[in-house]
Amino acid sequence: MTTEAAHPRLAAYPALRVSPAALRAGILGGAVAVTALWAAQAEPSARLDVLFATGAHLTGLLAGYGILVMLFLMARVPAVEHGVGADRLARRHALGGRYVLSLCLGHALLALCGYAAHAGTDLVAATLDLLGYPGLALAAVGTALLVAVGVTSARAVRRRVQHETWRAVHLLTCIGAALAFVHQLAGPDVAGSVLTVWVWSLLHAVVAVLLVWYRVVVPVRQAFRHSLRVIDVRVEGPGVVSVVMQGIGLDELRAEPGQFFRWRFLRRRLWRTALPFSLSAPVRDDTLRITVKAIGGHTRRVRRLRPGTRVLATGPFGALTAHRRTRRKVLLLAGGVGITPMRALFETLPGGPGDITLLYRAGSAEQLVLRDELEGIARSRGAALHYLLGRSAAAVDPSPSSQLRSSRGDPLSPQALRNLVPDLAEHDVYLCGPPGMSASATAALVRAGVPEEHIHAECFAF
Ligand SMILES: Cc1cc2nc3c(=O)[nH]c(=O)nc-3n(C[C@H](O)[C@H](O)[C@H](O)COP(=O)(O)OP(=O)(O)OC[C@H]3O[C@@H](n4cnc5c(N)ncnc54)[C@H](O)[C@@H]3O)c2cc1C
Repeated sequence: MTTEAAHPRLAAYPALRVSPAALRAGILGGAVAVTALWAAQAEPSARLDVLFATGAHLTGLLAGYGILVMLFLMARVPAVEHGVGADRLARRHALGGRYVLSLCLGHALLALCGYAAHAGTDLVAATLDLLGYPGLALAAVGTALLVAVGVTSARAVRRRVQHETWRAVHLLTCIGAALAFVHQLAGPDVAGSVLTVWVWSLLHAVVAVLLVWYRVVVPVRQAFRHSLRVIDVRVEGPGVVSVVMQGIGLDELRAEPGQFFRWRFLRRRLWRTALPFSLSAPVRDDTLRITVKAIGGHTRRVRRLRPGTRVLATGPFGALTAHRRTRRKVLLLAGGVGITPMRALFETLPGGPGDITLLYRAGSAEQLVLRDELEGIARSRGAALHYLLGRSAAAVDPSPSSQLRSSRGDPLSPQALRNLVPDLAEHDVYLCGPPGMSASATAALVRAGVPEEHIHAECFAF
């Protein structure tokens, strides 16, 4: 069953989505084309300096192409964001960034070795010589900027660096990419033919326009068009609040349940950062709602927002939506504040009685949020709702007719999941929770017989 045809309510949402497989094929196809461009110009030779130079040309071309791909992945193009998902894009960007940096450094080293072998000098003298050329000096600056980005993105460093600092350093990629582009236009591979100069320049221009359009123009336009303001902040549980915002023409955003926005609250010590939060309810009567758990400085300040505060929201983003669905039966599995997108999906995913099940994992009953709403939705649409509480093992069915079910052991073990959802393997599973819980739940689901392609997960971390 493909969703848009089977569920008319989805027809309101944008249909154009790039699938992860199509994106991968496109990126690989581009890499093959770049390699073919190099192969067409490579001159076979057994001379050491020529061999180094040939290697430098290939790594340089692939590095230039890789930088372009990295920027494209982060351009927030809706068809890509909605088809692939922001978290998966961020992971690919992080992995690809390592390859690109290795290619840049490999290119620099091979070029230096080639020059040193040709001129009969050592690497230090070759470096000093080459830095005397303005174009190469700029390329060296560009590489240094990319190295700085790579270092601050390494897991051990990133954990210690504030998100804003990491982001500011990341913006240096654009300068690095511009310097690399100028360097490539001067190099023999691209400059070798008018056609390649035009194609290379056009590709860079397209990515630059996409970046400016989707990361600057669209957010500014949305800010002016929708005039979003906080109208209510209500406590949902320990350290958790819901923020309700009202604006104009919010239907035009075509935000789907399961998606998230980046929110910039225009008040002191919050306006400088755009925080990602999922919608915890469908868009309704020109209002948007998020539910936020305080875990750090910014989320603690969100709790103190006042009605009237202006909000800039960019989005929607994310692919954890109904379009991923392939089966009639759906299991929604939420851990902690991962309940937010699940709450919106629980209400809106099409289905009859018995089709939708929500499992909500939390440390204790006090930590459950939006409980009245979840139970109301379960009742009104005949959906199943189970709370999985405690560190070890209490599975509680909230319906008054049911018995308290508890079992020793892991409530997310394959057997425990099968006990709660006997025909589990026939379900699509939507999963959102902390990284550890998501990983163990995915493993348990697979062991319980759910094919991996039917598990649709989103992680609350980039
Ligand atoms: C797609 C997505 C949807 C999310 N939905 C929800 C939700 O519905 N409810 C909820 O409570 N939380 C949600 N989160 C998590 C929430 O965004 C973070 O808890 C929040 O940004 C932490 O900010 P802080 O400054 O209070 O905490 P910090 O302690 O400063 O940061 C905690 C973590 O959040 C990351 N982070 C901080 N600022 C940002 C930022 N501007 N952009 C991206 N990551 C950042 C940090 O890198 C760190 O890993 C979501 C996250 C993502 C990625």
